[in-house]
Amino acid sequence: MTDPILPGATLGVLGSGQLGRMFAIAARRMGYRVHTLSPASGTPTGQVADREVVAAYDDLDAVADFARRVDAVTFEFENVPVAAADCAAQHCPVRPRGEVLHIAQNRLREKRALAEAGFPTAAFERVTGSEELVQALTRIGTPAVLKTAGFGYDGKGQAVIREPGEAASAWAEVGGGEAVLEAFVDFEREVSVVAARGVDGAFVHYGVTENRHRNHVLDVSLPGTVLAGGGNGRAVTIARDILEALDVVGVLCVEFFVTRDGELLVNELAPRPHNSGHFSVDASVTCQFGQQVRALCALPFGSTALLQPAAMVNLLGDLWSQGEPDWAAALADDRVKLHLYGKDDARPGRKMGHITAFGDDANDAARRAEAARERLVG
Ligand code: AMP
Repeated sequence: MTDPILPGATLGVLGSGQLGRMFAIAARRMGYRVHTLSPASGTPTGQVADREVVAAYDDLDAVADFARRVDAVTFEFENVPVAAADCAAQHCPVRPRGEVLHIAQNRLREKRALAEAGFPTAAFERVTGSEELVQALTRIGTPAVLKTAGFGYDGKGQAVIREPGEAASAWAEVGGGEAVLEAFVDFEREVSVVAARGVDGAFVHYGVTENRHRNHVLDVSLPGTVLAGGGNGRAVTIARDILEALDVVGVLCVEFFVTRDGELLVNELAPRPHNSGHFSVDASVTCQFGQQVRALCALPFGSTALLQPAAMVNLLGDLWSQGEPDWAAALADDRVKLHLYGKDDARPGRKMGHITAFGDDANDAARRAEAARERLVG
């Protein structure tokens, strides 16, 4: 039995974006104190934390000092150097363990780990130069997607190759280095399963959520999606097996492509709460951040039951291009909830907040959420 870390204790989060912010809010609601460490100040997490430490992730003296002052450490984004997680682990429990970070922060490592463990993925190959890319294209075929191996998210560092002649320009576009060439999946839709696993192996999940993207960035999430042919059960089993295989203690999201014949292919893992689980903050008995707190603290999980049909839309910085959005107009629908992350600089494409709406079913909720977002800009 692992001793639980009880309310009143201090939880540390490496990273300081909106995921850390929502983790901190969930933790504080349960009576924990929260410290955050990242290279920036006045951050979305720092604004709601008890203490904001400004230090580089590779400043291991600062990380060690941070870890000594908290009772457990988690992270809110996977590109924290593994050395920081390992350093913190010398002073307190770090959940999930650094090895999970290590796998998830490199697409090639992640795809290899998935394929070696027998999980279904699109065909892929490692590519380190434009000649190699031309060779790999003869095996993978076109269309294909070239992705940088490291530090990629939300479609950044990606290029679609429609025909072999585009190899050189695609290679230049992703910026060289180590990359993964992946078969293009003509998917019917994209879905995700947000799940959590405890120190004792307990497992909970939020079912299957449909995710609609715009410009490779998540746009709308509809929880409670029903897939044909027993797809929900298969997706949850894959998620459970991945959390088991990686020995994850914490929250992890598995993103899938659903092919036109109903096959599920794992696209990506996020070893933390995920944008596609934000609906749970308003719509579920226990939200994904509450589960992250419980996993970190070795406490029993809460119910993941959906209270009402809901949907979430992201609010990107583009909405600020004509000035401050009209918040009152968005809230004219009383089934709409607004979340803003406390970011000052509304750059195009930057995730600034989200809206969750309730409805008679998920599609109705999505319509309400999208309508609220449209009202923001007149
Ligand atoms: P990723 O950063 O890998 O999650 O990719 C972002 C988005 O790009 C995905 O959610 C898909 O919409 C699209 N995408 C990525 N990989 C592929 C692929 N192999 N085939 C088709 N679409 C893809």
